[in-house]
Amino acid sequence: MRLAKRVSTLKPSATLEINAKAGAMKAEGIDIIGFGAGEPDFDTPEHIKKAAIDALKKGYTKYTPVSGINPLKDAIIAKLQRENRLTYNREEVMVSCGAKHALYNIAQAMFEEGMEVIIPAPYWVSYPELILLSGATPVFTDATEEEGFLLTVEKFERAITSRTRALILNYPSNPTGATYDLDTLEGIAEVAIRHNIFIISDEIYEKILYTDFHHISIASLSNKIKELTILVNGLSKAYSMTGWRIGYVAGQKELITAMNNIQSQSTSNPTSFAQYGGVDALNGSQDEVLKMREEFRKRRDYIVRRLNMMKGMSCFNPAGAFYVFPKFSHYYGKLFKGHPIKNSIDMTEYLLKEGRVAVVPGITFGADDYLRLSYATSMKNIEEGLNRIEEALTKLE
Ligand SMILES: *Cc1c(COP(=O)(O)O)cnc(C)c1O
Repeated sequence: MRLAKRVSTLKPSATLEINAKAGAMKAEGIDIIGFGAGEPDFDTPEHIKKAAIDALKKGYTKYTPVSGINPLKDAIIAKLQRENRLTYNREEVMVSCGAKHALYNIAQAMFEEGMEVIIPAPYWVSYPELILLSGATPVFTDATEEEGFLLTVEKFERAITSRTRALILNYPSNPTGATYDLDTLEGIAEVAIRHNIFIISDEIYEKILYTDFHHISIASLSNKIKELTILVNGLSKAYSMTGWRIGYVAGQKELITAMNNIQSQSTSNPTSFAQYGGVDALNGSQDEVLKMREEFRKRRDYIVRRLNMMKGMSCFNPAGAFYVFPKFSHYYGKLFKGHPIKNSIDMTEYLLKEGRVAVVPGITFGADDYLRLSYATSMKNIEEGLNRIEEALTKLE
């Protein structure tokens, strides 16, 4: 069948692929420890579920306004004011079917052929594909572990051409967990303003942060940078609500209106009762969020320490999110029963077959020396999984 050109180069999510392979092995009765998960392993807090159930009982089961119900927009506006010191009105916020959908709408509304969008590597797997689907060209910058896996102001400025339209920032980062401090954000904002470049700021891991400083939204640094920032956030990670599909955007009214038009001709509104649950997530008690963060912090401390104790391994201490991004390249070039392990894909397959652990190869995030391990799984699984990795590595020669 002849398909559109735009899908001929589209890659399916590598994370989902490795999960499918691990799932097939599990179905055969092989016990696999999964470090692949891109979602919290906790249940959605009870009060949020109850709000959605109440909405169902009240009959809120019909279409809503395309860009979201006013109570949810108001909860988002209040959250942005309270936590990020940002002022928006209802025409400057919009609810989508997850942050990923919000990013898709942004790309469709802002980008086209001939434009460039800067994506700092290591990057979240969907950014390049979302940009390619819009017709624009992703331009990658690299960052070393020594740079904290973060974009530097110099590298940002060097990547800018006359075609550059936007920069995608994601902090705390998936896959590295790295986050920006105030100085770097100010430097990036200054360059963006000087060159009139938009910043898409994906802050979905904002609440899973272990530093002693708070998350700083780049939009809050000045009115000028607020005008250039399109802030993306959602409920999936903070409230363990990945299946609910509620994400949101805040930005200039013109852009929100364009995105509203796109959404009105594609998905229409996000699910009605999920939106009511979302109101309670943002307005209700945040106790569960803090509990989840503290549990993640314990796991992070353990997993980083264990990985750093393994021979030839180094593991960056992430400031946030629930991933570690250890460097495995010490083992590239080594042999298992005569077969070389050349890169992160080989290592991932080796660890799955010989170690019975599922991880995600770094190449999918633009950094082949590394693997991504999610610690959104129980401490017991983490301990056992790390034992297996350690043992599998000793078999390489
Ligand atoms: C999970 C994730 C998203 C998407 O979240 P949804 O709201 O579930 O669509 C966006 N950006 C990053 C970096 C993520 O890790």
